[in-house]
Amino acid sequence: MSVEARPKALVTGAARGIGLATTKLFLETGWQVAMVDIDGDELHRTAGKLDHVRAIVADVSDPDQVLRIEQQVAEHFGGLRALVNNAGVADFGPIRQATFERWRAVMATNLDGPFLMTQAFTDMLARRRGAVVNVTSISGVRASTLRVAYGTSKAALAHLTLQQAVELGELGIRVNAVAPGPVDTKLALAVHTPEIRAAYHDAIPLNRYGREEEIAQAIVFLCSDAASYITGQVLGADGGFSAAGVGLP
Ligand code: NAD
Repeated sequence: MSVEARPKALVTGAARGIGLATTKLFLETGWQVAMVDIDGDELHRTAGKLDHVRAIVADVSDPDQVLRIEQQVAEHFGGLRALVNNAGVADFGPIRQATFERWRAVMATNLDGPFLMTQAFTDMLARRRGAVVNVTSISGVRASTLRVAYGTSKAALAHLTLQQAVELGELGIRVNAVAPGPVDTKLALAVHTPEIRAAYHDAIPLNRYGREEEIAQAIVFLCSDAASYITGQVLGADGGFSAAGVGLP
């Protein structure tokens, strides 16, 4: 396939984890990808091994940097069919020890980022009748201890998804979310103690963590033409976690 014929996707938080797996799946299925990440070293290391990608080092929570991302994509890609707002940060701890700075830092990346990015790319996506996927979390579906900022940011992002779907539908833009269950990435490994891991294994009907590639499949599906009549949905990719109630013998 010629480079020009490849549809174009932008993935944030693409240097590693779910974002990198999503980038690779887009490439395997014939897309080209603008990889955005705040971590320049890791982004250049991973992007350097891939064809049909453009690496853009930027912070999605900064309006000026988002404008720069939009300008670079316009200049080098000339358009966009899919935007994946995947960049996210976690902060775990009791409510009474949460500081306003840490609360704001989580909201800035997890909520301001997808708001700013989708707004910046609306015109470009409308020209291609494109799709947006916001990556939320089971922590935004069910409340649990120690996740006050993270869980709240992801619940708000799920609602932002609905607002965007309802308003941007008339432009032909579909907006959905994928809510992953636990996946062994750097983000999860940093905070999932053996006790947390055991509790997830018990609470998940499939009794295991997800793999990055399994989350990528859901994201790329929602960006594809196979999902052409699906918008305003939050798709759980969580081994059944959100379907289950209290585990009874
Ligand atoms: P990860 O930490 O491996 O990757 C996140 C990437 O986002 C990193 O490369 C990081 O540098 C980048 N990033 C962080 N802040 C950024 C910013 N302001 N601007 C640009 N890039 C930024 O984490 P992951 O597990 O792959 O997480 C990806 C998404 O999946 C996140 O939104 C996360 O909340 C969500 N998620 C993860 C899990 C899990 O268990 N791993 C579960 C549910 C949801």
